[in-house]
Amino acid sequence: MSIHDTHLTVRAVRAFSDNYIWLIESPRRPGFVVAVDPGEAAPVVAELDAGGASLAAILLTHHHPDHIGGVAELLRHAAGAPIQVIGPDDPRITTLTRAVHDGERVELPDLGLSFETLQIPGHTLSHIAFWGHGALFCGDTLFSAGCGRMFEGTPTQMNASLNKLRALPPDTRVYCGHEYTAANLRFALTVEPSNTAALEYQGSVQRVRAAGEPSLPSTLALEIQVNPFLRCDQPAVVRSAEWHAGKRLDGPAEVFGVLRAWKDGFR
Ligand SMILES: [Zn+2]
Repeated sequence: MSIHDTHLTVRAVRAFSDNYIWLIESPRRPGFVVAVDPGEAAPVVAELDAGGASLAAILLTHHHPDHIGGVAELLRHAAGAPIQVIGPDDPRITTLTRAVHDGERVELPDLGLSFETLQIPGHTLSHIAFWGHGALFCGDTLFSAGCGRMFEGTPTQMNASLNKLRALPPDTRVYCGHEYTAANLRFALTVEPSNTAALEYQGSVQRVRAAGEPSLPSTLALEIQVNPFLRCDQPAVVRSAEWHAGKRLDGPAEVFGVLRAWKDGFR
């Protein structure tokens, strides 16, 4: 079995009001973890201390403070241990030890981990995702039943980025940066009121959230069924977007742009 087939054990650490910092356990080096997007140090340190675990590397998807704000303190806490900080090529991230680009592999052989870098501009221009071991760490680009706001990119860019993620294997587990699923589903069901997969998912998300558990990870197969932003080529979604825009729309990128602007004003 190649290391790419190794199933990952990933723990969710809550930060701020609705962020998730993902801790990936090393399949090869017990007790060592890789943190994805540690916006805050304290909850990560608490989790490491509780489990007797050590931080081995940090992966960053984009430069926003709620994703990188804890890095410097985590490095101090590690007291000089050699911790790689791997993320997008962006001068706004000053703690990086290695910048990675589209298609580049992130090989961490000591830890038994290997990811491919996917450049996915839209939420920010330098946003990347890490894909490997059947898992996708996609920051604020793809959320369950939704997607990130476009702070820096265009609808064409963001739509292309989401299409790139949609093309990954359907059983890919999707680890997003925020717990937005319930609110996203309210919008998804406004766009597609008779989407039965989304209705069923809403029920299961309500149960999971009522029990205090994360709704994540999701899977791409599920997202393709319920996430309107991955369904911009579906007739029901196109009709709804055209109704909202009050005009004919020319192709999935334009449908995406209308949905994203609609969601921005949706309460
Ligand atoms: Zn962000």
